[in-house]
Amino acid sequence: MKLLKEKMVKEGKVLSETILKVDSFLNHQIDPLLMKEVGDEFANRYADQIITKILTIESSGIAPATFLGLTIGAPVVFARKRKSLTLTDHLYSSKVHSFTKNETNEISVSKNFLSADDNIIIIDDFLANGEAVKGLLDIAQQAGAQVVGVGIVIEKGFQEGGKLLREKGLRIESLARIKSLAGGKIEFFEDGEY
Ligand code: 5GP
Repeated sequence: MKLLKEKMVKEGKVLSETILKVDSFLNHQIDPLLMKEVGDEFANRYADQIITKILTIESSGIAPATFLGLTIGAPVVFARKRKSLTLTDHLYSSKVHSFTKNETNEISVSKNFLSADDNIIIIDDFLANGEAVKGLLDIAQQAGAQVVGVGIVIEKGFQEGGKLLREKGLRIESLARIKSLAGGKIEFFEDGEY
């Protein structure tokens, strides 16, 4: 997605060879016009699927997921990172190791909001090692829901997540795929290049 890549080059900060900071439009301040385009692009790419629910993880997946929800008219459920101490039997939960924070969180979703009737798309801001997506897949599986695919705003193609998830037969649509962050520069994969 051209507009997204331009924004990444202009405003992204390469913190190391593995971490890109995009605080000015996705991870802290949010650019709603760009997020609207992101939502529309996910909707176009999954136009062949019936989606009843969008599943993401707090906090940075919520903006792109919500703009997709607005475009296709489906509700958005975000997994929470803190488990409430009450009603734990009424939650689907999974453990997710965070690549950027180097900590493991228990994520959870109320059983009220996902069911075996749902066709789910999973959305997240970044794909690195695939831990967050794996946790969300686990939650969808506990609910007995179908996962039609995954939508990622920025995939770091030099990390393992995309490969691992695609090898499982999962459909992954990434709007920007980074080949390398070496030398403080963002290099992208061309569309269709692996
Ligand atoms: P994964 O679970 O695929 O290893 O990592 C994805 C999660 O870690 C995303 O939810 C995202 O919040 C965070 N993340 C991973 N890499 C980056 C990065 O380079 N920059 C930012 N801002 N977040 C990242």
